[in-house]
Amino acid sequence: STRIVLASRPDGAPTPDNFRTEVVDLPEVGDGQISLRVVYLSLDPYMRGRMSTAKSYAAHVELGDVMVGGTVGQVVESRFDGLEPGDYVLAGAGWQSHAVVDGSAVRRLDPETAPISTALGVLGMPGFTAYSGLLKIGQPKEGETVVVAAATGPVGSAVGQIAKLKGARAVGIAGGSEKCRALLDEFGFDAAIDHRDPDFADRLAEAVPDGIDVYFENVGGPVQEAVWPLLNTYARIPVCGLVAQYNGADLDRKDRLPGLFTSILTKSLTIRGFIQSEFVKEMYGDFLRDMSAWVGDGKVKYREDVVDGLENAPAAFIGLLEGKNFGKLLVRVAAE
Ligand code: NDP
Repeated sequence: STRIVLASRPDGAPTPDNFRTEVVDLPEVGDGQISLRVVYLSLDPYMRGRMSTAKSYAAHVELGDVMVGGTVGQVVESRFDGLEPGDYVLAGAGWQSHAVVDGSAVRRLDPETAPISTALGVLGMPGFTAYSGLLKIGQPKEGETVVVAAATGPVGSAVGQIAKLKGARAVGIAGGSEKCRALLDEFGFDAAIDHRDPDFADRLAEAVPDGIDVYFENVGGPVQEAVWPLLNTYARIPVCGLVAQYNGADLDRKDRLPGLFTSILTKSLTIRGFIQSEFVKEMYGDFLRDMSAWVGDGKVKYREDVVDGLENAPAAFIGLLEGKNFGKLLVRVAAE
């Protein structure tokens, strides 16, 4: 089995030498376990947090350990009742070509219902993040304006499309004209703004003539600064991610804090951070039902950016934090 381990911790943006490739023998399949070959590995922004020892909501990866990650794989050998060789499963096998995992920790996938890769994107964790954060905290209403950045990614694209299904106006922010075009043509956003445009703040203000009622926070940084003055009274801000800050930029800036708190008070803002896992028990069933139907009916579109070969995972992950991906970033570790 080939695997990629954490070789050293990044200082700022990750570099290829933070990762190391190893070839190891797979352990025996124990009672209640399965072995699987990984087909797709999901690359997600949260992995930057796992590379660092800074205190977080989840444990960091130890040096020398396999990088964590969601995977879709195929069962090779099973000593777990209810799973057979050939079955496709969603598992947290991490950055490796093969793994032995507990059968109780995986979910069986039906390749007839939806492409198996979607279990890592629109019908998986990122899709659920959008669904739960927007509906539970954002609560968009008919005619309101919802703004989201990283809008062509799996979270942002679902946020905008669900907002539209709820009768709201969706404004997406993305990096570059090609991504902005996709927001309008592919995902049906009402307006698209390029955050690299030197006049970004003015363009955004023009795109939200009635102000912003829901800002689904994915990025932080300069995008957040431009959004802030445009928020309406009673605006809701689900704080989902701060990807512009994950490599360490901006973290020591405290000068904006008093102004933020004045807005929170005078505009009666609701700002609520969340980690999607907290809503799983309450909402995952509803999510799978609604999202599967929307994707099936073509009401929610999704885009995947598939990179071939496990050896290309580090470069693809480094690119994710710089906006080089265009859609849900996946590594095809082996053929389906
Ligand atoms: P994406 O596929 O959207 O990838 C990240 C995107 O962020 C990049 O493609 C890039 O898009 C954008 N980006 C990167 N740097 C900057 C920057 N400096 N300024 C503005 N945009 C930037 O990722 P996901 O959809 O998987 O995740 C989106 C967000 O949701 C992340 O913050 C992630 O951490 C968070 N998240 C939170 C969860 C939770 O439970 N709270 C669960 C899952 C995700 P572009 O080129 O358009 O700028």
